Amino acid sequence: MAGVPANLEDMLKDAHLPALLTAMVHITGDTGWLRPEWAPTYNPMDRADLGIPEERQAEARKAVAEAIRTHLGGKPLQMANPDTATLRRQMDFVAGAPIPEQYVDFLVDELTLDGRSTKDPQFEQPQLKAAARKLNVLVIGAGMSGLLAGIRLSQAGVPFQIVDKNADVGGTWFENTYPGCRVDNSNHMYSYSFEPNHLWPQHFSPQPVLLEYFRGIAAKYDLRKHIRFETLVESLAWDDGRAVWRATLNGKDGRTEIVEANAVITAVGQLNRPRMPDIPGLGSFEGPAFHSAEWRHDVDLKGKRVGVIGTGASAYQFVPEIAPEVASLTVFQRTPPWGLPVPHYHDDVPDNMKWVLEHVPYFDKWYRFYLFWMTTEGFLPMVKSDPAWTGPATAVGPENAMLREMATLSLQAQIADRPDLADKVIPQYPIGGKRAVLDNGVWIAALKRDNVSLVTDKVTEITAKGVRTADGVEHEFDVLIYGTGFQASNFLSFLKVKGRGGRDLHETWGGDAKAYLGMTVPGFPNFFITYGPNTNIVVNGSIIFFSECSVRYIVGCLKLLAESGARALEPKKAVHDDFNRRVDEANAGWAWGSPHVSSWYKNSFGRVSQNWPFGLIDYWRATLAPNPDDFVLEKTPEPVA
Ligand code: NAP
Repeated sequence: MAGVPANLEDMLKDAHLPALLTAMVHITGDTGWLRPEWAPTYNPMDRADLGIPEERQAEARKAVAEAIRTHLGGKPLQMANPDTATLRRQMDFVAGAPIPEQYVDFLVDELTLDGRSTKDPQFEQPQLKAAARKLNVLVIGAGMSGLLAGIRLSQAGVPFQIVDKNADVGGTWFENTYPGCRVDNSNHMYSYSFEPNHLWPQHFSPQPVLLEYFRGIAAKYDLRKHIRFETLVESLAWDDGRAVWRATLNGKDGRTEIVEANAVITAVGQLNRPRMPDIPGLGSFEGPAFHSAEWRHDVDLKGKRVGVIGTGASAYQFVPEIAPEVASLTVFQRTPPWGLPVPHYHDDVPDNMKWVLEHVPYFDKWYRFYLFWMTTEGFLPMVKSDPAWTGPATAVGPENAMLREMATLSLQAQIADRPDLADKVIPQYPIGGKRAVLDNGVWIAALKRDNVSLVTDKVTEITAKGVRTADGVEHEFDVLIYGTGFQASNFLSFLKVKGRGGRDLHETWGGDAKAYLGMTVPGFPNFFITYGPNTNIVVNGSIIFFSECSVRYIVGCLKLLAESGARALEPKKAVHDDFNRRVDEANAGWAWGSPHVSSWYKNSFGRVSQNWPFGLIDYWRATLAPNPDDFVLEKTPEPVA
């Protein structure tokens, strides 16, 4: 039990009030805290604005302080597990609006008030345990999803090994070390649901902090002993007769080794192979040139003339960081990014808020719930295409147009002193069409600097001295940086996979990767993909949620093998095809499916191959457990007498 700080009122002043009041229900057992006059009415463009008058907030915080003082003074928690009706009232209160009935189970699971979740592996039954021990899983990748797979497999008692091409855990947070790299999802949500961190230093922490979090996870769950670093899995071949995958591994010493596994889980992300642009002369630049994901820290940018190609999420983060130190910076923009105003994007989490997260029971759960709801399903209508929309193609529906207007006003305010920038920085595509970035003003401030210029003429050539644009100008540089993104739609491009009967995965896909629920592919038994085709989310929340759902489902598939005595499973082709047909239909209904937008969400066929087009609730439901009817189960052959 924590002592009661003398300045308790001060400690509470930065804590999210609706979450605090909701936590009081548990602490005092009284639902009277959920008073209408203390209920929030959020401002969508500034969520810090609760819409509760200051004096009401002060009154509420004072009452909360009294209750916490009593609790920390020794009075036990009064309501650990509220009934469903109370939970509903709590949810509605924090969300600031009634939550539709169909979300309740899903949100209760996400809340994990009693510490239990549908994502916990269920392998208690002794026969199941014994069968699980006979499995052997190869996980490719030790980033966020691979570590999660390791944790869940350990909990299920399934033997496994993890192989990663890098020298440490962390995946994207290990590789992307460019200046300013940070998460763009609130950290209190961008963390495993079962591993909250009450001490995140910032609301959106920088890359080194994220890397430390994942290192800490690897240590806590004793995963390193399972991981082979600096080793590339080059190929996988399914042995039909023995029902095992044979994996060819290539170690850093160049040695090749074959390992076998009953099942393979790929956990390599969608954004891990840098994409160099298809520009004539690429490679002819004589100075240092590098991609943002392969940042050359040995290249000192101080006082240099630097060119940057690209204005996506990566450039948006590193341009403001390097602008003050370089002699000149020229940013080549093809399409401007949309920014969502988030004034606290670079702010520290105040120490008093960390204290509340740590010491006020249930506050962390409800704060996470608030973030989860407000940035996930609660936000989706803003990017939904309305078939009846007859407005301009710069929006896809009335709510999208409203969001556009608010984001435009924010941009206009930032360039009030530089109207010449308006045509360049205000996007003409619907907001949500590409990944929107979080805007706290540093991007526009960087573009407005005297030593920075934003060039929107098409880049036509990379030359020995720099970059030539369509107007014929050759821009000369000392250093060239590519912020040109990743080969996102080339799923698993580094990996040769031969499935049943020697069928090749990449030939099967023909450049248009598809999988059932993003995870399984007909003809490729016991082969599971995390963050696979059509499992990316655009505006709604943290990709960790998706990984947790995927891994739950994959572990469920292993359980199905163990329970059924089958040695392999793969999805039925009809089930897979029907799922992908529904995905394609649904993707057309969102801003990112608009024909007026090109982005890494679409593959070379113009199909949206990356994004999940339904709600998070739909993925949660679909991945609760595998439906045996969706799969072809291959039974172990009877021994020949
Ligand atoms: P990106 O969003 O794909 O951006 C690539 C940029 O390069 C775009 O501006 C693109 O223009 C431009 N480009 C590509 N080829 C070009 C060419 N030939 N000429 C001129 N410009 C060219 O890549 P990214 O910025 O690395 O971000 C990728 C994804 O990674 C993000 O969407 C996000 O999901 C994730 N990410 C997240 C964070 C975070 O905050 N946590 C940070 C970085 C990245 P067009 O738009 O016209 O194609």
